[in-house]
Amino acid sequence: MRIGIDIDNVISNFDEVLKKEFLEHDKALRNTGIVDDNLYITSGMFDWSKEEICDFYYPNVERIAKSLSLIDGSKEYIDKLKREGHFICIITGRDNGEYSNPFDMTKEWLNKHNIYYDELIFTNGKDKESKARVCLENNIDIMIDDSVSLCKACLDNGIVALLMDKPCNRSSNITRVYNWEDIYNFISFYRDSR
Ligand SMILES: [Mg+2]
Repeated sequence: MRIGIDIDNVISNFDEVLKKEFLEHDKALRNTGIVDDNLYITSGMFDWSKEEICDFYYPNVERIAKSLSLIDGSKEYIDKLKREGHFICIITGRDNGEYSNPFDMTKEWLNKHNIYYDELIFTNGKDKESKARVCLENNIDIMIDDSVSLCKACLDNGIVALLMDKPCNRSSNITRVYNWEDIYNFISFYRDSR
């Protein structure tokens, strides 16, 4: 099968690092800490104004993206899926204007962490239909992403979508996975049941 895999919060620990950075910078602001852990880091988790969020997020996001680590099991299970004959298509929304060179930055990061892929596709993640379009064009069978809106657009277009769990997406009833073992088990079950 052809598997579409998001990078941030599926392969990389983007939110974990961003949250740590926000907590650290929060001390220099009003030191209020987290006000709502169920909301997203840049939209309600902290009591920062829009301006405070932008002033911190945009100058730092590239440095943060370069520093990310792997989510547990991501490399091992991607390798296992490849060995079992699946086509690995990494689809990232990083072509969203936040990075000076998202292409080289991302390729370097994937190489550094020895992440296998057959194809690497960039979309603008702010366009909620972008990944569904790419999935259709590339005959993707299953897409794995942590974004409710991107997963929903895939489902609306007949593509199976798995939503990687995080606190701010828990109100969605899209098929949820909690880790790479879950992802692997779902893909194996789905393949065997077809
Ligand atoms: Mg993501």
